[in-house]
Amino acid sequence: MPNLLNGQPYNPQEVENRIYQIWEKSGYFNPDKLPQRHKKSFTIIMPPPNANGSLHIGHAVFVALQDIIIRYQRMKGKKTLWLPGADHAGFETQVVFDKKLEKEGRSRFQIPRAELYKEMLEFTLANKKIMEGQLKKLGASCDWSREKFTLDGNIVKIVYRTFEKLKKDELLYKGKRIVNWCPKHQTSLSELEIKYIEKTDPLYYIKYGPLELATVRPETKFGDTAVAVNPKDKRYQQYVGQEIEIETVLGQAKIKVIADEHVDMNFGTGAIKVTPAHDPDDFEIWQRHKNEIPEPKQVIDKYGKMNALAGPYQGLKVKEAREKIVQDMIQKKLLDPAKTDPNYKHNVATCYKCGTTIEPMILDHQWFIKMTMRPKNGRLSLRDLAVKAVKSGKVKFATKRFEKIFFHWMKNLKDWNISRQIPWGIKIPDSGTEDVFDTWFSSAQWPFASLMANKKNDFKKFYPTDVMETGWDILFFWVARMIIMGLYATAQPPFRYVYLHGLVRDKERQKMSKSRGNVIDPLGIIDIYGADALRMALVVGNAPGNDPIIYEEKIRGYRNFANKIWQASRFVLMNTEDFKLKTKPKLNQRDKKRLRELNRFKKEITKLMETFKFHKASEKLYHYFWHVFADKIIEENKPRLRHENKKEKIAAQYLLLETLKITLKMLHPFMPFVTEAVWQNIKNRDSKLLIVEKWPE
Ligand SMILES: [Zn+2]
Repeated sequence: MPNLLNGQPYNPQEVENRIYQIWEKSGYFNPDKLPQRHKKSFTIIMPPPNANGSLHIGHAVFVALQDIIIRYQRMKGKKTLWLPGADHAGFETQVVFDKKLEKEGRSRFQIPRAELYKEMLEFTLANKKIMEGQLKKLGASCDWSREKFTLDGNIVKIVYRTFEKLKKDELLYKGKRIVNWCPKHQTSLSELEIKYIEKTDPLYYIKYGPLELATVRPETKFGDTAVAVNPKDKRYQQYVGQEIEIETVLGQAKIKVIADEHVDMNFGTGAIKVTPAHDPDDFEIWQRHKNEIPEPKQVIDKYGKMNALAGPYQGLKVKEAREKIVQDMIQKKLLDPAKTDPNYKHNVATCYKCGTTIEPMILDHQWFIKMTMRPKNGRLSLRDLAVKAVKSGKVKFATKRFEKIFFHWMKNLKDWNISRQIPWGIKIPDSGTEDVFDTWFSSAQWPFASLMANKKNDFKKFYPTDVMETGWDILFFWVARMIIMGLYATAQPPFRYVYLHGLVRDKERQKMSKSRGNVIDPLGIIDIYGADALRMALVVGNAPGNDPIIYEEKIRGYRNFANKIWQASRFVLMNTEDFKLKTKPKLNQRDKKRLRELNRFKKEITKLMETFKFHKASEKLYHYFWHVFADKIIEENKPRLRHENKKEKIAAQYLLLETLKITLKMLHPFMPFVTEAVWQNIKNRDSKLLIVEKWPE
């Protein structure tokens, strides 16, 4: 261990790796190896980072926050388990890997499935290894002996078990369903994976025999199976239930007019074409009128091109087909260009990864989970299980705002499509399809699956877990679904407390992105300023739920603080070398006042830690150490250390050493490396390692 007394400034590069090794060797990351006094369990399941790249600054935020919570609880005497993991990350990794292949001039659609899977597994495992090293650099005191990967055999087994349970409870259905299809990525996506973008397109008025109707997508007309009007719409009552003769670009045809309450009388002419194969709303209309109208007709293929049913337009991309059909319809006087609204604004569904317009289409063998239906022999739907748990306070949100958003989302919950047409992931146990599970289906089970798949009694000992800390951007993708699946599979909530952090931003509150050039690489920063400085910069002033602000000067400031801790500690240790613990000091009034202040401060910090206000606790500790301890207490005691009266000297030594030890303990969760390094230089230390010291109360 670097000798504090040699006079050098604090050098994190020299200290951090060595300290981490000491902790790892001690075994204290493992709850089973903690000293006797650690009895009651305290668990955090780490959100497993996607093993498809390096850790970014967002990961550093969760590592800092969760490590603070775990270190604090460990010092409080809890049997702490922080379970690390890595996520295969299904579609997310597929997208990253597709890009990599593209750069190499390859495409996943030309590589045999088994070969591709093998290559992706190697890629993921290599990234996983790198990430582990990075988590260690950040100071994560997680139990590596329990690390799990989402594709581990015993995890997959549990995921299959839940799938079977859902089947048994009749909460699963497989069917021919309309899905959100990304023509670029060649897979269906869930409601959460599509992004709505406002677009301006022409709204055309087309003739349908005696009727006229408005549409932005005339190219889908080959797939029309009905015309729908609102039953209350007097204009069309005479046609309801009738078949009308229509002239189309492909010749004469007949089509039925139906009445459906969901038709908006104020849109266009009040009459709409029904294309169940290519529009989710129309699919619903078909579901309601199955007996009246024919089966859906698919006219667009998986690549976003017109198929044989489009006759001469076959092979054209949707947009090209649209333009050509509009021209042909104008020629045949089936479309009045004078009526076209060129600036019609509407929301278009796009793929959240590539921005390609989603082509709704019907796929076979799609597995859906019923989110709002009661299970066979059960009382509550999956949704209601989760709503009840949050309403009753079994699961609490640190920020109330997110609780409201949660309830709102749950209200509008739809069935969950868990089938993905990509090779990367856990294969759905269904011989009729090659599909894999939506990665969030397995992630939703992570808290209980990662514990069950570990040592025999882990689930019993550590579940329900205590805190789920993650980014608010995955509140629905992950947090809500974990609550749902945890309650469903184990009859207990997966965690008691939800702490959500925001998106890291720069000084100007800008989102960090490569194109803006404002990205902060956490590992590069650690190499320059040390992990403690980065952790402090990510925590101080960053209230839960808000977006953390970070910039290099801020990090440099905390590097200076780490050095201040080092230097002030050196002064105290150099001047207390001859101090004997057994000597009872005779304290004066000012000493007593200082100790009373310290006592109040301890209580204040503990309260902030208990209520998850780490942004305030860290700030107060910074000020106390620098401006009270170093600037005042050390300064006012300097003359006493040289005093002829030995009693004065001993009192000052006692006060300084006591204050130093207590502040180091309280700073430890935030700045674990420098505090432990100082601790190792204290001769009269209570425990050998600060990591298992008792939290001062
Ligand atoms: Zn896409």
